[in-house]
Amino acid sequence: MTSPTLVWIRRDLRLSDHAALAAAAARGGPVIPVFVRDDLVDDLGAAPKWRFGLGLECHAEALEGKDSRLILRSGDAREVIPALVQETGAGTVYWQRAYDPKSVARDKEVKAALKDAGVVAKSFAGHLMFEPWTVETKQGDYYKVYTPFWKSVRDRAVGEPLPAPSSLPAPDTWPDSEALEDWALGAAMNRGADVVRPFVQLGEQAAQSRLGAFMASKVADYDTTRDIPGIDGTSNLSENLALGEISPAQCWHAGQRAMQEGKAGAETFLKELVWREFAYHLMWHTPRILSDNWREDWAAFPWNEDERRAEVKAWKRGRTGIRFVDAALREMYVTGRMHNRGRMIVASYLTKHLMCHWKIGMAWFEDCLIDWDPASNAMGWQWSAGSGPDATPYFRVFNPVTQLDKFDKDRDYVSRWIAEEYANPHRDALAYFDAIPRSWSMSSSDTYPDPIVPPDEGRKRALSAYENRSF
Ligand code: FAD
Repeated sequence: MTSPTLVWIRRDLRLSDHAALAAAAARGGPVIPVFVRDDLVDDLGAAPKWRFGLGLECHAEALEGKDSRLILRSGDAREVIPALVQETGAGTVYWQRAYDPKSVARDKEVKAALKDAGVVAKSFAGHLMFEPWTVETKQGDYYKVYTPFWKSVRDRAVGEPLPAPSSLPAPDTWPDSEALEDWALGAAMNRGADVVRPFVQLGEQAAQSRLGAFMASKVADYDTTRDIPGIDGTSNLSENLALGEISPAQCWHAGQRAMQEGKAGAETFLKELVWREFAYHLMWHTPRILSDNWREDWAAFPWNEDERRAEVKAWKRGRTGIRFVDAALREMYVTGRMHNRGRMIVASYLTKHLMCHWKIGMAWFEDCLIDWDPASNAMGWQWSAGSGPDATPYFRVFNPVTQLDKFDKDRDYVSRWIAEEYANPHRDALAYFDAIPRSWSMSSSDTYPDPIVPPDEGRKRALSAYENRSF
């Protein structure tokens, strides 16, 4: 009799292209999928934690469709996994790799404990296409600039995605599982949950449909439409990629096929997938990108770090009086996602016009985004602020007013997200007032505010601080 295999599920809520699950099925014995709610899950922001709960529920149903189950346990994975091994008599534990420093440290300890106990412990690739330690410059260093990184990986072979296992043999007796409802992963969303829920595309099947629809129609014009926030021109797959409901390799192969079919935007889509890889690569080699200025000399820059300032409050609430900024922040509050152009604009405004530390914005995104991704969020913020690798120079200050004229000419985006002063506000603009805490005391009939910091004044202040910096 082959002993059971535990498959430790993490950010990989899918059945297809799942190397750990495929290897477990191929071993021949019973397969026991388990998810551990540890402090890394407890520490998630409100929206990503809620989205994780929805993803787990959906994935458990998908496993049940294979006559399998998702066993839920809470506690320190370094104790929970070895204990479950003992309880089930498992001889093998498989999982898909994670790359953030806390997960890496935890996984190393779990692996060592299992090996000491004579249990086979093996991790597999899948959250990325290119393992960070396999991409090097000619000098053996890691890449700090995106374009050479892209050139070095674009022609690499990415393995064909694996099919979902045809069956997952069940153990004679399933171990006990905790109940997902008892974890209350959505508790901190309060009344926002009902507003955001209709925008969520949940689970592996929805992610595959999204990819299919994007490749069938949107990818051809992606080059031009991806920059226009009033057009639904991008794949919207980030929330699924963040939880592993689809693999980057599945997206990559679909993009390659579209390129062979002559669809114009396909190569740009592949490049965006590689931006995600680049972010992970940077996080792996320089984990400080998550917590400190990646360019160390930026430590001396006079960022404002006081979260209680009125300007920060206005920024978070979408009440800066700058329409592009406010529209994007409200989009995030209602949908749990924000268009990439919006992310760049709000990040530039916070760090440059308001001269606030990028960590304030990064933490706000971490609380509000259902597609929150540690690597892409940190890289995006440091790129926007100027303190990151391959960053936009500090003196390049996005003008949110001219950006609006360029990317939202017909005001489709701002009228969708800002209600004040519109005779018939869009339903999504009104939904914002149902999602926000009542304590913000905002109403759609308020007068839209004047700019808290006019664009020209903010720009001059930011440039003067930059020119007078001591580094
Ligand atoms: P598409 O345009 O369809 O692109 C396909 C995929 O490529 C995306 O799903 C994503 O995985 C990847 N991708 C695209 N652009 C980028 C990028 N600039 N950097 C890294 N990967 C990219 N992305 C997140 O997934 N989670 C975050 O928490 C996050 N925070 C960000 C914060 C800031 C300040 C900025 C400027 C960007 C951030 N991004 C983040 C990157 C980007 O905005 C989103 O990935 C993108 O908007 C997702 O929409 P989409 O799936 O339709 O992307």
